[in-house]
Amino acid sequence: MKKILLPLGLFCTLSSSVWAWDQKPNHYQVNIDPQAKLAHVQANLWLDGDELAMFAVSPTPQLKNGQAEFIKNLQVRDQSGALLALQDKGEGEYQVKGDQRVILTYQVKLNHDDYDWPAGKEEVLYHTGEGMLASGYSLFLAPGKKMHGETRVDFALPSGWQAHTPWRGNGGHSFTAQSRRELLNNVMFFGTARAEDISAGGIKIKLVMGKQYWPQRQVFVELIEKQMQTYLQMFGKAPLGERFMLVINQGDSGDGGAFSGSFSQYLKGHGDLASRPVWGRVVAHELLHFWNGLSLTPRDGNEEWFKEGVTDYLTISTMSKNGLLSRDFVRQFLENLPRGQVAARRLMGLKGTVRQAYQDKHRNWLLVYGGGSIAALAMDVKLREASQGKSGLPELMRALYAEFGQAGKSYTLDDLLRVARQHSGLDLGPLLHPIISQEGIPDLHDLYARIGLQLEQYGMLENYLLPKNGPGQAMFAQIFGAPY
Ligand SMILES: [Zn+2]
Repeated sequence: MKKILLPLGLFCTLSSSVWAWDQKPNHYQVNIDPQAKLAHVQANLWLDGDELAMFAVSPTPQLKNGQAEFIKNLQVRDQSGALLALQDKGEGEYQVKGDQRVILTYQVKLNHDDYDWPAGKEEVLYHTGEGMLASGYSLFLAPGKKMHGETRVDFALPSGWQAHTPWRGNGGHSFTAQSRRELLNNVMFFGTARAEDISAGGIKIKLVMGKQYWPQRQVFVELIEKQMQTYLQMFGKAPLGERFMLVINQGDSGDGGAFSGSFSQYLKGHGDLASRPVWGRVVAHELLHFWNGLSLTPRDGNEEWFKEGVTDYLTISTMSKNGLLSRDFVRQFLENLPRGQVAARRLMGLKGTVRQAYQDKHRNWLLVYGGGSIAALAMDVKLREASQGKSGLPELMRALYAEFGQAGKSYTLDDLLRVARQHSGLDLGPLLHPIISQEGIPDLHDLYARIGLQLEQYGMLENYLLPKNGPGQAMFAQIFGAPY
């Protein structure tokens, strides 16, 4: 008899339902009708527990069940084909007898873009003249508790359409997602839009672009290659994950959303060289999230400022060094930081600290991104001063990534401070405290003087930056690549 040895810890974490699982992969067949108004979904999956769910639904005043309002004719059967009783608990949660293999059939109405969404249509579903973008959250009902094994997804599409996903391809319109997160937390594009595969920053990137951007694709590819190379050097190794996909289409909000292996970007305008500081900054910011945000993850929302603000600051400084942003744009960014804090506190009356601001991220944008960028600049200057310019925030990111850039690991503020102390000998706590943990407007005159800038503020919103002679000018050049 073969004796099976299991590591001791495994006994404690495996629930009985794992033993019940039949070890077979899950399967979804998604047929999109010729007008792309309706998706017919048939799924065959192991249901662990009694809950089927559409994840990440955002209820709105018009749609109280959010994305789940678009599901029609949901039926669940067991292996023998018998219908199972289904209880709709609202907001995309359904109770049904589980711990068995089930067959789901349902339709999804594909007119999500007739409605407004808190995070924007680009994170939900939209149509263009060349096809349709959908997030996994909008199409797939999945086991609420746990999803075992891989999931194969086959698409049948309107004639002439291609399927683009960040998943492993099986040929044709067939793909395999490794986990529930990979299945749901991604966007797909179906249609005639063109796609290009790029290798950059240690990973493969599929770029899917609307046709008005295609003639400028070299400008996009150059930006992506330069920034990804810089990020790879900064973090010392590739992000977690092997395949990423970028979908770029025209949309007036200019917003984007990052998913586990993909991001969906709306751009204003035509993506030309003249407007590169605007669209390029957004694209470069999202690319940096493959490391800071997706691979290096905070334990909770309190460190959203580090995820967003540090990402924004490093986006600006690296794009400037790579010659992708003018000095003028960097000056405007630096003028906007103090202005943003005054606007946030005195005009908008935002309360709470920068750390707490994640609780209403869209409204508190100036605190999360702006406050976080100020914290990043303050840390960068402090680290460079203490090391005579040998080491700054990029080197701290590398040290953090070495320890926390692993699946299943996340950091806290204490972790950030500890790694900074081990890395530089500095306690960044007293520096960060007034910026991120106290409610108020940080005084930036001294910080700006140390990067060679004299900050002049008039009234509530007029800010001017004048060059100031002294060692700060060398500091500015270290950070942004050339003197002010
Ligand atoms: Zn971001």
